[in-house]
Amino acid sequence: MEVATGKSILKGIAIGRMHVFKSEGDAVQKESELSQPEEWKRFQTAVEKAQAQLRDLYDKALEEVGEEQAAIFDVHQQLLEDEDYTDAVKNIIATQGATAEYATQTTGANFAKTFASMEDEYFRARSADIEDISRRVVNILTGREDSIESDEPFILVADDLTPSQTVSLDKSKLLGFVTRYGSSNSHTAILARTMNIPALIGVDINDSWDGQMGIIDGYNACVYADPTDELLKAMEEKHANDVEQTALLQKLKNKPNQTLDGKEIKVYANIGNVADVGLVLQNDAQGIGLFRSEFIYLEAPDFPTEDEQFEVYKQVAETMGGKQVIIRTLDLGADKQAPYFKLTKEENPALGLRAIRISLTRPDLFKTQLRAILRASAFGMVSLMFPMIISVDEVRRAKAILEECKQELKDEGQSFSAVQVGIMIETPASVMIADELAQEVDFFSMGTNDLTQYTLAIDRQNAELDDFYDPHHPAILRMIKHVVDAAHRHGIWAGICGELGADLDLTETFLRMGVDELSVSPGAVLPLRHEIRNLDLQQEIKSDLAKEFEDLF
Ligand code: PEP
Ligand code: MG
Repeated sequence: MEVATGKSILKGIAIGRMHVFKSEGDAVQKESELSQPEEWKRFQTAVEKAQAQLRDLYDKALEEVGEEQAAIFDVHQQLLEDEDYTDAVKNIIATQGATAEYATQTTGANFAKTFASMEDEYFRARSADIEDISRRVVNILTGREDSIESDEPFILVADDLTPSQTVSLDKSKLLGFVTRYGSSNSHTAILARTMNIPALIGVDINDSWDGQMGIIDGYNACVYADPTDELLKAMEEKHANDVEQTALLQKLKNKPNQTLDGKEIKVYANIGNVADVGLVLQNDAQGIGLFRSEFIYLEAPDFPTEDEQFEVYKQVAETMGGKQVIIRTLDLGADKQAPYFKLTKEENPALGLRAIRISLTRPDLFKTQLRAILRASAFGMVSLMFPMIISVDEVRRAKAILEECKQELKDEGQSFSAVQVGIMIETPASVMIADELAQEVDFFSMGTNDLTQYTLAIDRQNAELDDFYDPHHPAILRMIKHVVDAAHRHGIWAGICGELGADLDLTETFLRMGVDELSVSPGAVLPLRHEIRNLDLQQEIKSDLAKEFEDLF
């Protein structure tokens, strides 16, 4: 048995076989030890395998998402047959004595660059496809893994996972995560909370764990590889206990989020895609306070069309019945990258072209999303929210584009309902001008993950800074109070949709500050309701943290 410790993201126990996912770098060997015909044969065999994979992917996509989305895999098959492409590979093998993987990788990069600089929109769009098929062939040639698959439930062990890798996971099989890197506010951690599965970060993982039985003990922040029978039994009992506790919490379903003295607060849930809506209903959230719509883009091989997005938003709105669904417009950039956006590599991506900045620079893209959201508003109570706002001007420009979309839809005879428009307060600038911003919108939702990052100047992705990342920092709590007061002065509501909203040590503080809504991962809804229902705001302050901030109430 081997034990390793880390930092726990979610308290809970996961027991299952471990799958070590290796995401190696891009480097491939250049010099070949084989003859040219042998290298060429390796390339041809790899292409045949890639074609077979693409045929399977086409069939899977056809069944799951329809012909339009599946067509991309057809295009990939055609690109692999392109003679210019294969001739270029052959030439590099012949003239440079290179391996098939080197020749493929170089050809892919050359073609992608050429395509990206073409005038024609169609060819420009093919640049990412060329890179994609080249990576597929290189992976086959080098035996690398690109996706994470398993037939049985498993514990995923990895150095780190990018948001696009997490979207390709078969989540129904995922029991828990163990990663070497990642921080408690990274999107991998958020995914673990959304799915309510134990996760450990900062663990000195070991490749030899692959295929072994493992236990994540989220309470003690450790992972056991190849545990003894005795430990396995003890952990199974602990796990059964958790299941029992969860069942107890289920008794709180349909009960109001009301303190003992009668103060009510809205408890909503955060989601990343349609599949999470089941969890929202299961945990009885009153609405969706944050739909991270960028995951639709991360899951798609190319820009999702208006109709494709409309179908997703409509399904969520319909499933939630008359409950509020707040769709945040695209928040890509920084750690969330979709290759077909071809965003330039930046020195400081968290401070770069992301979120509303992308939407305002690419209004066509923005309009596609806004039109889809507006059309879905005819099927439920849909609201809109703009991310990463720093100025009144940005809000006005975004609203002007929204008005254009409404006019277009009206002219086309398409129906839509009135949508509330809100903004994320997640930059110190937006906090400071909250009074001005409140006059422009219907609500505020505080993104404390980014607000903490930008206020404390601490990269939320950097695990080494976790010890410095203090979510209870007085600067953050004072900012929250400032925003709530500004919102109330102008008659709008203010909520929190960052991870801090689920921090039970702060529930009393938030209620006493007058926060109107808390939007948390679905699994955190009922524990939060339990906490709220045990508070009495007419009595003395109960929690130590709330005592510390008494001057704010
Ligand atoms: C936040 O920044 O707190 C937030 C909710 O948005 P995200 O985590 O998606 O950046
Ligand atoms: Mg954010």
